[in-house]
Amino acid sequence: MELLNKGKAKSVYKGEADLIIEFRDDLTAGDGAKHATMEGKGALNAEISARFFELLDEAGMETHFLGYEKPNRHLAKEVKIIPLEVICRNIAAGSILRRYPFEEGQEFTPPLVEFGFKSDEYHDPMLNDEVAIALGAVKDRGELNRMREMTLRVNDILRGFLAERGVILVDFKLEFGWDRDGNLLLADEVSPDTCRFWDAETKEVMDKDRFRRDMGDVLEYYREIRRRVYGD
Ligand code: UDP
Repeated sequence: MELLNKGKAKSVYKGEADLIIEFRDDLTAGDGAKHATMEGKGALNAEISARFFELLDEAGMETHFLGYEKPNRHLAKEVKIIPLEVICRNIAAGSILRRYPFEEGQEFTPPLVEFGFKSDEYHDPMLNDEVAIALGAVKDRGELNRMREMTLRVNDILRGFLAERGVILVDFKLEFGWDRDGNLLLADEVSPDTCRFWDAETKEVMDKDRFRRDMGDVLEYYREIRRRVYGD
């Protein structure tokens, strides 16, 4: 298979008609400064992410997702990735606490949407609409607004689904891309690597923060997220 791109946690290959995305066992934090390999992490993320993409598809959202192949692959439509990270926050945690005087755990009503520029070299800086347009990441404000709307829709769908399963969706990161016909599609992944999940009762951390903050039992919690998402 022809390798098109090897990212920090996923490899993208050219399939017969579409793309094959392989979820690897690599975990990174701090723009790649910290790295580990955990056997089975890729399969867990592929399975969890597949369930979320299915839910979003069922709700009529346009995504790149075409199917899940056990244990660790997605089939996906080819898109040109927009070099922005779209972050949605329901609860204050992580980098926003280092930038503004919010208290950890405080709720954002309505949820916040922030854009970051995808760049390890520049450490994914937050940007406003003018900077995103000047960088050529998007054509105009309309494109940013469509991403904002889709992100809030993803938030509504996933937040409700997870709440029924005893999981708080604290925040998450999305990526979008353009397909050949000019449609804006949700791409990338939605997994414990790219979301913050807290147990609704105990407030335990159930996501990649366990790795970032050396809390231990990373895969045990990813497995628990998989179990709750699939209800088995
Ligand atoms: N996130 C991500 N990739 C990034 C940066 C952030 O998937 O390069 C996710 C992260 O897992 C969290 C949300 O986006 O769910 C918000 O992350 P934050 O800005 O708080 O940054 P961090 O604390 O991870 O540096």
